[in-house]
Amino acid sequence: MCGDLMVYFKFLGTGGGRYVLISQVRATGGAYLESGKLRLYIDPGPGALIHSIRENVKLSKLNALFVSHNHADHRTDTEVIIEAATNGCTRKKDFFLIGSKNVINSVDDYHKRACSGVFALSPEESVKIAGCKLTATKAIHTEKTCIGFVLEGKEKIGYTADTLYFSKLTEIFRNCDVLIVNCTVPRNPYKHKEIEYARHMDAFDVAKFLHEAKPNLAILWHYGISLLRADPEKIAKGIEKKSGVKTLAVKDFQEISTN
Ligand SMILES: [Zn+2]
Repeated sequence: MCGDLMVYFKFLGTGGGRYVLISQVRATGGAYLESGKLRLYIDPGPGALIHSIRENVKLSKLNALFVSHNHADHRTDTEVIIEAATNGCTRKKDFFLIGSKNVINSVDDYHKRACSGVFALSPEESVKIAGCKLTATKAIHTEKTCIGFVLEGKEKIGYTADTLYFSKLTEIFRNCDVLIVNCTVPRNPYKHKEIEYARHMDAFDVAKFLHEAKPNLAILWHYGISLLRADPEKIAKGIEKKSGVKTLAVKDFQEISTN
């Protein structure tokens, strides 16, 4: 972690995928992360702004916004979060926009100009924010420029973003203190096929990945409709048993602190 003795997360949504997005049976507002001096917003899907206001997340204090890829359940509220962080684009302070190439290309110049730095990162490229180093990580997803991150300060925090399992994933995220994993489906029979919704890890992939990567704590989110029907808590228990890694199925608006 970066400066203090605690990492704090607030989840403004835990849903993902097309049916959860359009039904909002789980919110899709992404997550807020605080660590030392860093205030980072992650993947502002639809509802990010409204849920943040309702849950009293201080968006005006953000140092950075990270948007993993240009799919609606991850990026819809990007511009309004930029506005909230910059007093309606009137205050250019230390506020970075970091995202996949396709996300950065999709944001208009007016909102880019409101940020003090705009970074379209490729895997393994890094940026320093508020005393932490954020390094983009590779993802294999239908949005080809999709990235996750590893955030390093006193603690190491990983975010896989939407991706298939691939062997290098373990190496990239090895020994994180906290690892946020997008676990969208309980079982994915289509993962080797070139179809739109197939590029996600299922519960079997996540168990294998966590067993190898060995974080202190894994947090599951980005539940698709089939995973919700299968019960995220039950899925998390199964993954914990198989992987030997403490695994939480986070709920909408839940807060998590590392100590
Ligand atoms: Zn996606």
